[in-house]
Amino acid sequence: KPITTDMKTLIQEIEKFAEGKKIEIDTLKIREEYRKDFLGNVSHELKTPLFTVQGYILTLLDGAMNDKKIREKYLTRANKGVERLIYIVKDLDLITKLEAGELKLDREDFDIVELIQNVFDLLEMKAAGKEITLTFDMEYTTPVYVNADREKIQQLISNLLVNSIKYGHPDGTTEVSVENLVKNKVIIRVTDNGVGIPKQHIPRLFERFYRVDPSGSRKEGGSGLGLSIVKHIIEAHDEKIYVESEVEIGSEFSFTLEKTKNRTS
Ligand code: ADP
Repeated sequence: KPITTDMKTLIQEIEKFAEGKKIEIDTLKIREEYRKDFLGNVSHELKTPLFTVQGYILTLLDGAMNDKKIREKYLTRANKGVERLIYIVKDLDLITKLEAGELKLDREDFDIVELIQNVFDLLEMKAAGKEITLTFDMEYTTPVYVNADREKIQQLISNLLVNSIKYGHPDGTTEVSVENLVKNKVIIRVTDNGVGIPKQHIPRLFERFYRVDPSGSRKEGGSGLGLSIVKHIIEAHDEKIYVESEVEIGSEFSFTLEKTKNRTS
């Protein structure tokens, strides 16, 4: 069975399974299997975009190079493929560090409303490309200060928004809201009216390389790592993430964050 959890969880699961039974656990062997499985997944993920880029280069070498228009078209496509490879490698690098517990949190107090607006600005073009509107619940136009790792929360929100764009329908909407939860917590919701997720897939969404529709995800340029990165970031903050989804109605991903102490907003 393919390994989709991180190594620590995997060892814990196996230890739990072996509890009380006369089974000796070879953690070294588990680690070895884990690495083999991960490398297998990685080479599989890299193969598709690499072959695509090679295809364009071969076509150019085959004569397409002589026509300026075709040359530009194929070079642009090859460049897109390379961009996708860079994106996958960056995600791989991040997930490796997160799984190894190497990335320490760099907590600071910052305004989550401003951060969400920054992510909107960065993704505006991508959303417009799919005719998707990003909206922000205007209940909070004032700052809402949270205590968290700014850069990682930006990555988390960006991953959720990118997914809502990738799996959204043209003319769809993604709404982000920030609400007070309990005294010292806020909850951030990312709600879309996209394709939705069938119930049976929901428990496995945060596993690395897990996809509901593998070919659809690859076509959209997904690495299959977005949500596992999200889960690691949430766990590192000791917070929680929730998913609710219905096929063809849409999905809502929501997560909690700690508010800054001694601030009135
Ligand atoms: P990917 O790179 O495939 O998007 P993720 O880890 O980010 O990888 O997401 C895992 C899978 O969860 C996706 O392949 C997709 O099937 C599903 N998914 C994630 N977000 C959404 C969403 N907003 N709407 C519908 N499906 C989603």
